Amino acid sequence: MHDYKCVIHVHTDNSPDSLASFEDVVLGAAWGKADVVAVTDHDSLALKPKEGWIEAFGHRFLLLVGEEVTTASGGHYLALGIERPVEPGLPAGRVIEEVASQGGAGFIEHPFFKGNPWFRAPAAAWPDWNVAGFTGLSVFNFTSDWGNRITPLGFLLYGAWPGLAVDRPTPKTVKKWDELAGFGRVVGIGTVDAHLYTARLGRWTLEAHPFRYFFHSIRTHILTDQPLSGDLEHDREVFLRALKSGSCFISNDYLGEGEGFLFYAVDETGRVVARMGESVEAPSGVTLVVRCPEIRRAGGVSRGEKGVTLLRVTMIHDGRAELVRTYAVDHGGGGWLMSEKGVTSTPGGRWLMSEKEIKGTPEGVASIQGERSYSNGRFEAVHLAYILNGAPMLTYNVKGTGAYRVEVEMKIHGRLKPWIYSNNIYLTRPDLAE
Ligand SMILES: [Zn+2]
Ligand SMILES: [Zn+2]
Repeated sequence: MHDYKCVIHVHTDNSPDSLASFEDVVLGAAWGKADVVAVTDHDSLALKPKEGWIEAFGHRFLLLVGEEVTTASGGHYLALGIERPVEPGLPAGRVIEEVASQGGAGFIEHPFFKGNPWFRAPAAAWPDWNVAGFTGLSVFNFTSDWGNRITPLGFLLYGAWPGLAVDRPTPKTVKKWDELAGFGRVVGIGTVDAHLYTARLGRWTLEAHPFRYFFHSIRTHILTDQPLSGDLEHDREVFLRALKSGSCFISNDYLGEGEGFLFYAVDETGRVVARMGESVEAPSGVTLVVRCPEIRRAGGVSRGEKGVTLLRVTMIHDGRAELVRTYAVDHGGGGWLMSEKGVTSTPGGRWLMSEKEIKGTPEGVASIQGERSYSNGRFEAVHLAYILNGAPMLTYNVKGTGAYRVEVEMKIHGRLKPWIYSNNIYLTRPDLAE
């Protein structure tokens, strides 16, 4: 299984609202070490002849060119893998059809973007839910999820600390995604919607959010059986197939590299029966498995509290949180630590119970520690911490049919921020006529 980091939805100066040159894109891709970059200018395929592998600044990446199509109702549809430009101003259903007929993948963009009066950004919401045939939607769009709430002060602030700009997706978008997933596969991707803007401050012209940071932020990681080969036609097909099938996940790589994240379903014998985007008939005995990436601290802002990074993993079934677990990663070399009751302590002396007092060590756990907690001097509870060798792995015995996905959050500067969104695994039970 290969994991490729894709930066999707980049605007160049072929869009009226971005000043980025082609060289800015190449520089950004190299800076962010992106594997695939998809440029999608507004209603334009002008850069299509530039598609292909590019080697620059000691980095090699695949540049693909799509189009962000404006529909009749002012919505934006991200068309990837198309050969001929789609005319703007057509009804949403026609735009979706046109992209599909060219063999492309299409995603509804920022469906609830209200616009931002501070920056004269017009609203670009998607009112046309009465359509079918789209591949999915952009669940996390860096610029519009940020643009929904940014003020001029924030604009300057985030110019200095660009990694903090992006916070979480617009909740309505995530809710819509879950709603749609109840009717069949709808693929969620993360996009940057990168523009190069400048701001005037007296006689100074400032580059707002540094353009290159977009290339190491919200990325869609595609998981493929076949490696990218260096051949444009072949690799574009591999990319499109992963997106269309939902074999991908969203990661805010600025917080920590998402590479290594896996979510799949196994049967009683441990055989993998479904991966992200796939459906499987789910008789009893299906277990969902989540593997978190290892936290690599170099390059990001992964500074946890007191040398410990907290992760919260949530299993979501048809839009409802069904299991929430908190983990702490001790960067002091203690490995992973998981507490049944949420994180109550950090390794290194505060765990009070001896191993003798704890009965039984679950399989795959290197060691186990416990702590008694007291409230007003009275014994309250025992908290157990499992110290794992490597990244945390969570298993979940499925209780019902439906769409299952995973969110991983990371605590940064005292707040939990989304780090990873998986795609759904769909468990069906056709033997029960509904
Ligand atoms: Zn847009
Ligand atoms: Zn855009």
